[in-house]
Amino acid sequence: MKTVMLIGDGMGDRPCPELGDRTPLQAAQIPWMRRIAAAGTLHLVDTVPPGLPPGSDVANLGLLGYDARDYYTGRAPIEAAGAGIPLQEDEVAFRCNLVHISDGRMVDYSSGHISSEEAAPIVESLERELSRSGLHFHQGVQYRHLVVWENGPVAPVTQPPHDILGQEIAPYLPEGEGAELVLELMEASKELLREHPVNQARVARGELPVTQIWLWGQGPALQLPTFPELYDLTGTVVTAVDLVRGLGVLAGLETPVVEGATGWIDTNYAGKVAAALDALITQDFAYVHIEAPDECGHVGDAALKTQAIEAFDQNVVGPIWQALEERGDPYKLLVTMDHRTPVEIRGHSAEPVPLATLEGPVGLPEAQTDFDEFIHGGNAELRTYEWIPGWIRGQA
Ligand SMILES: [Zn+2]
Repeated sequence: MKTVMLIGDGMGDRPCPELGDRTPLQAAQIPWMRRIAAAGTLHLVDTVPPGLPPGSDVANLGLLGYDARDYYTGRAPIEAAGAGIPLQEDEVAFRCNLVHISDGRMVDYSSGHISSEEAAPIVESLERELSRSGLHFHQGVQYRHLVVWENGPVAPVTQPPHDILGQEIAPYLPEGEGAELVLELMEASKELLREHPVNQARVARGELPVTQIWLWGQGPALQLPTFPELYDLTGTVVTAVDLVRGLGVLAGLETPVVEGATGWIDTNYAGKVAAALDALITQDFAYVHIEAPDECGHVGDAALKTQAIEAFDQNVVGPIWQALEERGDPYKLLVTMDHRTPVEIRGHSAEPVPLATLEGPVGLPEAQTDFDEFIHGGNAELRTYEWIPGWIRGQA
């Protein structure tokens, strides 16, 4: 039995006036998801445990069958695992965003989705000027980087910058024990970045410069029981983002690096699909994660988000379903999203998400049914993430 989960990050939404009061999932041409929904079973799923924020970390933990309340120590330690940075017992990892703040407001958590190539010299400068014994900057992808800090402060309340877009930052600066140490680093980065050549080039091209770093999501190392231990399954996680790669590493799964996987709408879909299908020749489980719908939600662009969802359907869901059918082995397929990223709020929300499951082969039936946030009623059961382990085991 092959078990396959296809995740369109942040696909869920709320009705958008610019889409005629439809959600992007409703407005999108998504024949593959609608055919899977018709041939399989529809569910609405609460992916976020009560009391925890609806971050991709917590929600993807839930989709992988882990209760974040038992394991979660923060977002950054998961990303550190994904980046292959082992955390010692006394080390704390922080997410380090390259952000654009103007007039005291969080204008862009990604500095215009700065490329990894441009970010590299910036992070090198940060490491050269601001590192010290027991505190180091680590290069990530695009605007997403890490600080690893020996005996660093765990206690401060820190804020994901993508959740405060357009808002004044003052109420969201780090607060609590040790916050002044975090603030000090953030402040020091401003001076360093002001005249940075990468920023000068960006300004000259009319692009947003990086005005400072924003530290958040800190925590010590976490450990998860692995898929081989829990389910006796081998498997692979295919993703462009360190967060989900980190969950894969911690879950004892393989995490191939796919060339051209960007975490944006221009990602190498074919490469990601090939990586998953290759893995499934010898392994039991694949988790394919596409980041772009979430990013489009954060950008606040309903039309672009609709396109990103269509690209996921056409380039990932369709090809993988067809390949599973062609191979003809028994399989279980699940299509969903980790959380909603409503265009209206340009941040995450904890409302339940639609999820479709299918056991095949079924012969690719043509019939379609709605696959959206409003499938409650006769044809969808409300679940929580706690249902997922049973589905993976084949008991649900
Ligand atoms: Zn997410």
